[in-house]
Amino acid sequence: MNKAEDGVPKAELKPDTKLAIGGRDPFAHHGYVNTPVYHASTLLYRTAEDFLARRGQYFYGRRGTPTSEALALALQEIEGPACAGVALLPSGLAAISAALLSTLKAGDHVLVTDSVYGPTRKFCDSVLSRYGVTTSYYDPTIGGRIAELMQPDTRVVFTEAPGSLSFEMQDIPAIAAAAHARGALVLMDNTWASPLYFRALDKGVDLSIQSGTKYIGGHSDLMLGTVSANQETWSKLKDMVFALGLCVGPDDMNLGLRGLRTMGVRLARHYESGLKVARWLEQRPEVLRVLHPALPSDPGHAIWKRDFTGACGLFGVVFKPVLDKAVHAFLNALTLYGMGASWGGYESLAIPFDCAPYRSATAWAPGGPAVRIHIGLEDVGDLIADLERGFAAFAAAR
Ligand SMILES: *Cc1c(COP(=O)(O)O)cnc(C)c1O
Repeated sequence: MNKAEDGVPKAELKPDTKLAIGGRDPFAHHGYVNTPVYHASTLLYRTAEDFLARRGQYFYGRRGTPTSEALALALQEIEGPACAGVALLPSGLAAISAALLSTLKAGDHVLVTDSVYGPTRKFCDSVLSRYGVTTSYYDPTIGGRIAELMQPDTRVVFTEAPGSLSFEMQDIPAIAAAAHARGALVLMDNTWASPLYFRALDKGVDLSIQSGTKYIGGHSDLMLGTVSANQETWSKLKDMVFALGLCVGPDDMNLGLRGLRTMGVRLARHYESGLKVARWLEQRPEVLRVLHPALPSDPGHAIWKRDFTGACGLFGVVFKPVLDKAVHAFLNALTLYGMGASWGGYESLAIPFDCAPYRSATAWAPGGPAVRIHIGLEDVGDLIADLERGFAAFAAAR
């Protein structure tokens, strides 16, 4: 038993405390602080009777080990009492596809936000379609008017806030109320805020997904996905993950556990530095707008303020109309920002993007070329000085 948990109701503990103690049981492991990493497939039984009755807590590596249990339990505690269980998947995308498969069947219809992560759209259009599930896309800012798009066979409304690349906020409670009133479930890709800054299950979401590759890992060396389920969705999710044979390697689960312990302090720093850089960029004459819901100028700010308690280090910048070569010169001149997909590590990143090719329900026309920035844990003054270098190259190239 973890001493810190004795006699203290878990609901009263703050998130940072839960991150520190969640899923750990040192005295079940000779007192060692961290849960051992079980590399396991086969599990042995002493007698034929024990084997046939599958006596004991565990049965087979794929079905769970003390290592997977520690990570799932730690994540469950962070989600709060509404969470009935957490499934671990080998990537964020696997978490998304498993969540969709666990809630949909042939003949069903799913409504997906037009601002969804690109590969989620690909999964719906290329896989779900082959199994008789139809997908339609909706304006991410639709709110309660989602009711008007719901068909008798709409079983799932898929949300993501803020949107991938485009950062539109969604009114999750309003969407959830409308969906539930018509018997549909609400799924959410909650990678951006994580349960630390948006308690999705408490806001009406039935399955909340994270790409653990991002801030749970936090060091750009891990692929991991998680799905947190409420009472209504947990058993079907668990069965689907088992049926698909999906499981995570023990060393990767250990990296997830290690990352989780510092996720609170890291996110707080990403939030603070990200907002500082966003504010600085907003004042630049070259910039048309900054896509960051924690900025009062952002169209989604009121919703963010009402429902979220923080922001991560990821946001967008739209330049005033300018030749692409000026934007490329800006990016190429940066020395502290890597150019690469993914995000959520300790390092800063900057990439050009254009959502227009992915949209089908709404048009993406932000008014100029756009760049996505991830603010890492470097000194924020150094990061801003580097952006100044970028703007000097931008001016020379325009
Ligand atoms: C990265 C990402 C994913 C996919 O996660 P992987 O672990 O890379 O498969 C899903 N959703 C969002 C919002 C992401 O940023």
